[in-house]
Amino acid sequence: MNNNNELMFQPFPAPAKDIEIGKIRSDFPILSRSVHGRPLVYLDNGATTQKPRCVVDAMTDEYMNVNSNVHRGVHYLSQQATELHEQARETVRKFINARSTTEVVFTRGTTESINLVASSFIQAFINDGDEIILTEMEHHSNIVPWQLAQARRSFKIKVCPITDEGRLDLEALEQLFTSRTRLLSLTAVSNVLGTVNPVADIIHIAHAHNVPVLVDAAQAAPHLSIDVQAIDCDFLAFSGHKVYGPTGIGVLYGKEHLLEKMPPYMGGGEMIGKVSFEHTTFNSLPFKFEAGTPDYVATTGLARALEYVTAIGIPAIQAHERDLTRYAVERLREIPGMRIFGHPSFPVQTEKCEDGAVISFLVGKIHHLDLGTLLDQLGIAVRTGHHCAEPLMHRLGIEGTVRASFALYNTKEEVDALVEGIDRVIKMF
Ligand code: PMP
Repeated sequence: MNNNNELMFQPFPAPAKDIEIGKIRSDFPILSRSVHGRPLVYLDNGATTQKPRCVVDAMTDEYMNVNSNVHRGVHYLSQQATELHEQARETVRKFINARSTTEVVFTRGTTESINLVASSFIQAFINDGDEIILTEMEHHSNIVPWQLAQARRSFKIKVCPITDEGRLDLEALEQLFTSRTRLLSLTAVSNVLGTVNPVADIIHIAHAHNVPVLVDAAQAAPHLSIDVQAIDCDFLAFSGHKVYGPTGIGVLYGKEHLLEKMPPYMGGGEMIGKVSFEHTTFNSLPFKFEAGTPDYVATTGLARALEYVTAIGIPAIQAHERDLTRYAVERLREIPGMRIFGHPSFPVQTEKCEDGAVISFLVGKIHHLDLGTLLDQLGIAVRTGHHCAEPLMHRLGIEGTVRASFALYNTKEEVDALVEGIDRVIKMF
């Protein structure tokens, strides 16, 4: 079963060329600014990544030279904009290796993608008394949409627990499947623990029970190769802004035979076939799910971002970030009173390192908000709080953490700055 897993969310990539960090950093103008009089150390990439100049330039160029509404016009600009928009869909298709662009729906982001499935899938496939499975490490955007959908159908939400090490308890997961289970929806990578779930194995288990699987790839897309055919997921969602693209654009991949049976999520222009007051028919896939004017400039930006990471190479990015994460965990562990959540496999070198570039921690009795605020004074941007994962915080018995999350442009010097910053804060307390 593991073979499939390695095909896609490859935790231990093939040797890759080193990334040219100086050149990469110069692609991101924001990285050279200062904050509170100090060089910016941006370690909040799990929340959003910075944008390379090529993404901003592509979007500026489209607004300056092409701008026109897509899919509707016979005139030159509209056709050119439509071409860029549909080329972007093809770029996304390639990035996730979908069979066809009919399976690539543009949304506003992971949240909207999951809401779309929660709304439309349950109408098509879920009856009162059915069940779905989520996990204890989900982001609120993979919990609340399902709770909202319970107003439409009275289905039950079952929750797969995590182990004390921050891994999904796969034995417990097996026990949750019944003849009433209609869907499993889980994150590929925890935005708090950094845990990389063995999604291919899990999908294999779910399919053995005839249960389709939605993968929340918000934290996977910037770091791991995605191959929807290799893992055989039924749905997959990710956000442009976490993968060096613009805000307000995201993707829902869905298998065609499922999307075909699902009713539209929103009504409006573009998603229709014929409209009359008596009867309306709907457009073909993927347009059935894309009501209204899409953010066609953002799709161009997203495509440019995906091309950018593809040119550097996900294996190279992954190797760099794994190195950085390992270094960070080792250095953070030297700090007295340090408590890191997840990352049990560090610093042990394993053939299969299953932790991503996200590190959540607490130090002694220092409140996470105080630590984050004081680090900010040193120019270090980290996230604090519950990270939109309150059920996980309850499981860990805490209210929140400080979270450092890395991207392809981060360096060991920045990790050192974080460690020195934490040392300074400790001395102040
Ligand atoms: N799922 C996970 C695992 C996330 O980390 C996030 C963003 N923090 C989301 C979903 C939601 O993404 P967005 O806000 O871009 O829709």
